Amino acid sequence: MIEELIRPHLRTFKPYVSARSEVLDAKIFLDANELPVGNPVGEGGIGLNRYPDPFQIDLRKAIANGLAVDPEMIFTGVGSDEIIDLLIRLFCEPALDSVTVVEPTYGVYRVAANVNAVRTTTIELNEQFQIDLASTLASVRPDTKLIFLCSPNNPTGNVLNREDILSLCKKTSAIVIVDQAYVEFANGSDDLARIVRELENLVVLRTFSKAWGLAGIRLGYCIAHAQIVSYLLRIKSPYNVSAVTSRLALNALKNRNFLVNAVATIIEERNRLATRLNALPCVVKVYPSDANFFLVEFQDAHLVFETLRRAGIIVRRRSEPRLANCLRLTVGTREENELLLSEIRTKT
Ligand SMILES: *Cc1c(COP(=O)(O)O)cnc(C)c1O
Repeated sequence: MIEELIRPHLRTFKPYVSARSEVLDAKIFLDANELPVGNPVGEGGIGLNRYPDPFQIDLRKAIANGLAVDPEMIFTGVGSDEIIDLLIRLFCEPALDSVTVVEPTYGVYRVAANVNAVRTTTIELNEQFQIDLASTLASVRPDTKLIFLCSPNNPTGNVLNREDILSLCKKTSAIVIVDQAYVEFANGSDDLARIVRELENLVVLRTFSKAWGLAGIRLGYCIAHAQIVSYLLRIKSPYNVSAVTSRLALNALKNRNFLVNAVATIIEERNRLATRLNALPCVVKVYPSDANFFLVEFQDAHLVFETLRRAGIIVRRRSEPRLANCLRLTVGTREENELLLSEIRTKT
């Protein structure tokens, strides 16, 4: 079934074979035109003068171990943003196919589709910002290849109902992509990554950019059916993930304590910030959050945004009518949050 969803010319296409695709156990490397005399920035044991492993075997293994899935089900990319783009390029024929975007959500899905000349169909989340199963399913046409979901959803902050996601997967042949960039901040257990083993059209996206605190290294990954992963490996640029990135990510995975503590700190601060925001007269509604940010409706969001900007505090505004008067506020440190609150309290 996956085979049928792949763009026809990619089913048979011959990928680039990089110098390092074959032998990795050689003693002397004269195959890739690298510089043999070191590099200008010091070593750090990373072997910076050499190209990285194109298949990121060690990193994919380490990520897979942590999730109790096969390494063949893991694909790593330059942020999850690269993977979003690659999934569109793998499944969607420009000008012919389309993707469904369930709004309000992360803007990159639409932009990545637009860049690739792939049409988008927009479906709205319901009043509770949950999936409207009937309208979402009705949006799926023969040319619909991908459905993008985000859970916890950016910018609304809520987790999508697990049962809705699963029934969407079961009732459609399109690939259902669930972007879990913020899943580490969500309370409760999450088994979607393991369910990928049973649902071949489910793809789960994760990132090192949020709870791991490594937005600067640009590393995201997806958990997907091994066949999808093998196609992604064929169409990506040969050395997409750098040696520096994979080394730092491997180090991070050995320090899970950092993640656990960071998430606990942010959740504590999230609870505190929610209470304090709710007490402000200019706040209409603080939407409950399972992420490290809040969607907040103000009486006058423009005034709050400008006031904060003058104080050197930048927050995110959204343009869609449904989120008029809403701002998205990231949970900062205790000190940062106190400054935010006092600016809003005293100046708006
Ligand atoms: C921040 C974010 C990402 C992360 O993208 P990277 O390219 O991995 O940094 C992905 N999805 C959503 C919804 C996000 O908010």
